[in-house]
Amino acid sequence: MTYQEAAEHAFGQAVSFDPQILRSYDHDLGEMPRPLMALIQHRPHTVVVARSAADVATALSLAKRYDVPVTPRGQASAGYGGAIPSRGGMVLDLSNCNRILAVDADKNTVDVEPGVVWEDLSRALAPHGLDNRVCPTSAPSSTVGGWFAMGGVGIGSLRYGSIRDSVLEIDVAGLDGTIRTFAGADMEPFHQTCGGLGVITRLRLACRPAEAILPLAVRLPDAAAAARFLETLATTPAAYSASLVNAGYCALRAQAEGHRPAITSGFLVSIALLAPQADTAAIARLASDCGGEVLDDAVAAQEWEGRYYPMRIKKIGPSALVGEFFIPFEGFAATSADLTAALPDDAFGLEAFAVRGGKLAVLVYILDDAKALLYPLRMAKAMIPLRLAARHGGAPYATGMWFSALAKGIYGPDKYERIARLKTARDSRDLLNPGSIGGPWLPFLPIISLSRCILWGTACLAPLAARLSYTRRRATKHPGATA
Ligand SMILES: Cc1cc2nc3c(=O)[nH]c(=O)nc-3n(C[C@H](O)[C@H](O)[C@H](O)COP(=O)(O)OP(=O)(O)OC[C@H]3O[C@@H](n4cnc5c(N)ncnc54)[C@H](O)[C@@H]3O)c2cc1C
Repeated sequence: MTYQEAAEHAFGQAVSFDPQILRSYDHDLGEMPRPLMALIQHRPHTVVVARSAADVATALSLAKRYDVPVTPRGQASAGYGGAIPSRGGMVLDLSNCNRILAVDADKNTVDVEPGVVWEDLSRALAPHGLDNRVCPTSAPSSTVGGWFAMGGVGIGSLRYGSIRDSVLEIDVAGLDGTIRTFAGADMEPFHQTCGGLGVITRLRLACRPAEAILPLAVRLPDAAAAARFLETLATTPAAYSASLVNAGYCALRAQAEGHRPAITSGFLVSIALLAPQADTAAIARLASDCGGEVLDDAVAAQEWEGRYYPMRIKKIGPSALVGEFFIPFEGFAATSADLTAALPDDAFGLEAFAVRGGKLAVLVYILDDAKALLYPLRMAKAMIPLRLAARHGGAPYATGMWFSALAKGIYGPDKYERIARLKTARDSRDLLNPGSIGGPWLPFLPIISLSRCILWGTACLAPLAARLSYTRRRATKHPGATA
């Protein structure tokens, strides 16, 4: 039997070789210029839409038998290239594995298939008096399995940490077609490794009691004050979530939406408090001690209601280069000052999430146009934020395909070694999402080279790219845009 016959026999209508369908699976939500995409085999030759764990196991057995690379895919919202094939092969679409399997309201846990979307899960938990502890701001579309496999922080991370801290147990399908359960430390290698060690078919999540949220908005005069404020806020029992944007971000968002900016200088911190324990007077005192002030309730409500629409400023780009990094609270002020100095001609917006343990996950949006001729050169600018943050204790956020060369720094040496050993044991022919979990011992040199090109860009091209000033066609620069 040929590979195609075997796939059609196993999956019937759920497998496709149609070029139109394949084209819709050769990218994710990130914007990559065509010349860069041309360096990799990003078009799959097969798409399988899995509907159950058994389908996943069958697809992986098939891949092993016919030596076909497999790229798992949730909703492809990660933007780091993890859900894009790097060596063609099969894309395994998990978005239809979306059943909520069991809710245990006594233990505050839920078992889900990997394709369950975060916002749907929140809705399904409500009748049980429960809610998600954490979720990404892409919650209306992104999947539980995708976020765990990608790793990340988001709404709720001030209280509950990363997605890793809320997953209690997972089932993982391997290339031999078996499904095994992992918990505790044994689960660790599957977090953040983009399906490079197996495909997750079930997750058990810890939930929180569905307490009402009280939003609050505070303006702080500068980055140092904002970091000081967040450090103390993190110790407040009612604090659930906190995110921060700079005045530049507010200016760009106001421009995109045609209203007045919420602040014109300093930083806006949006706080979500657990209403039953909230002491707003204490937060107001804390803000005042840090030189800040509590803003109007309408601003707080607007920020909380808009939490799932973070990229509105892209409208005026029409694209955005995005630099992302973790930074300890104490390194934030220096990094913020360095950024303002390094990007003098750019309208950039800064957005960050406070994370349990005293750090911020920071996104820097630099507006640009992905269709412009010089865009591939200017892409090096997206590495500037991470390079500056590294001087002040910063670290990269996630790997995916584009940043696989940074894997050792992201996982740390111990986890990296463990992953390397597991990769050899579970997938010696590198069929599971090749190119996603990095390391010189893996045979995906084109991808490593691409990552390195981007890294070299930091050192060699960034100063040049910074001088190639980009005049946005439609937008007029707002005075607060580089604050
Ligand atoms: C508007 C917007 C807001 C965002 N906000 C946040 C945020 O607040 N915090 C944050 O961390 N990220 C955020 N992201 C990034 C992204 O949405 C998250 O990483 C998201 O959870 C990925 O889910 P997905 O279903 O789209 O996964 P995909 O992008 O499809 O996959 C991500 C990676 O996981 C692998 N994978 C997917 N499913 C499985 C599986 N079942 N088993 C094994 N591997 C698998 C894929 O191969 C890929 O490498 C945002 C993105 C956008 C566009």
